[in-house]
Amino acid sequence: MENGLKVRDIAGWLETWAPKALAESYDNVGLLVGHPGDEVTRVLVSLDCTEEVVKEAEEAGCQMIVSHHPVIFGGLKRLQGASDVERTVMRAVRSNIALYAIHTNLDNVLTGVNHQLAKLVGCVPDSLHILRPMGAGLEKWSVFVPEAHAEAVRVAMADAGAGAIGRYDGCSFSSKGVGSFRALEGAQPHVGTPGELHREAETKLEMVVPSTLASEVERAMLAAHPYEEVAFDRLALQQERSDVGAGMVGTLAQPMPWEAFSDHVKEVLGCQAIKHTAPVHANVQRIAVCGGSGSFLIGDAKRAKADVYITSDIKYHEYFQAEGRLQLLDVGHYESEWQTSSLIASKINEKFPNFAVRLSGIRTNPVSFR
Ligand SMILES: [Zn+2]
Repeated sequence: MENGLKVRDIAGWLETWAPKALAESYDNVGLLVGHPGDEVTRVLVSLDCTEEVVKEAEEAGCQMIVSHHPVIFGGLKRLQGASDVERTVMRAVRSNIALYAIHTNLDNVLTGVNHQLAKLVGCVPDSLHILRPMGAGLEKWSVFVPEAHAEAVRVAMADAGAGAIGRYDGCSFSSKGVGSFRALEGAQPHVGTPGELHREAETKLEMVVPSTLASEVERAMLAAHPYEEVAFDRLALQQERSDVGAGMVGTLAQPMPWEAFSDHVKEVLGCQAIKHTAPVHANVQRIAVCGGSGSFLIGDAKRAKADVYITSDIKYHEYFQAEGRLQLLDVGHYESEWQTSSLIASKINEKFPNFAVRLSGIRTNPVSFR
């Protein structure tokens, strides 16, 4: 077992994967209840955080619950136990259980909810792309480093998340030149004599940096850089990021008759029923997905030339948007997302291999069929 792990260690690790800044503006993610400095020996992972799930955490000796859906979503003005949300929060506080939510920030990362869903329904992992890439939040940094230290700075920045482009990391460009500076009174220059103009062979190191990781990258860069005053430029880029955004599209290894594909989806997601529009092709191969409520991406799925779009919470009038161009499959909100718990659990164990992470045994789906 890992010793001395704190709530903030688990939260910090999850946020390097799904930074909070990637959450939608209406969302409420991160640590919702509890103290970041509290010790944790066991974590319970669940899709939803209900009073029953808190009870399960108490019985299993878990001091933290990580859920996909945030229990506090709209804001709470009082805690009287009048609703399930109030009772859940009150019970967690009384039992010293921290509540943490990793919601739309996990929807928006390349290896998050939709990647898992797309793989589960049979898409080839290498074929997967974000359906609606995020348009902002990428910067290009140029850092001027004395030649001998350029590699150390490059490695430090890359370790902090700079230089990641799509399925590549460690991307950088370097060019050589000469920097000049004169150290003034009180300065302690790494090279050169105070009061005299010094010229130094320097490398201009260029890397992309997601804005969400800017402070981590800056800290790492400054720590590895030998200069007292570091010269660096940050430019905001206009291009889309291929590694973050909503939904996902990919292809099946082989085309499948749409009936067989629907049956397969039903089975792997555990659906009792699927609501769908008319098929467009007898065989389907290009599949778009969005876990949870994904009607907002129907247009993107059509533009991506998907044969099928798998999501949930489609309203009556939204089904008409298929327009004979793709087939909509509404698999149910819970059915499209329950597998997120095991994704989160394995991510925690990737960093803390011996740490006790437990998957909730409670089926929180409030919807039944008969
Ligand atoms: Zn959801």
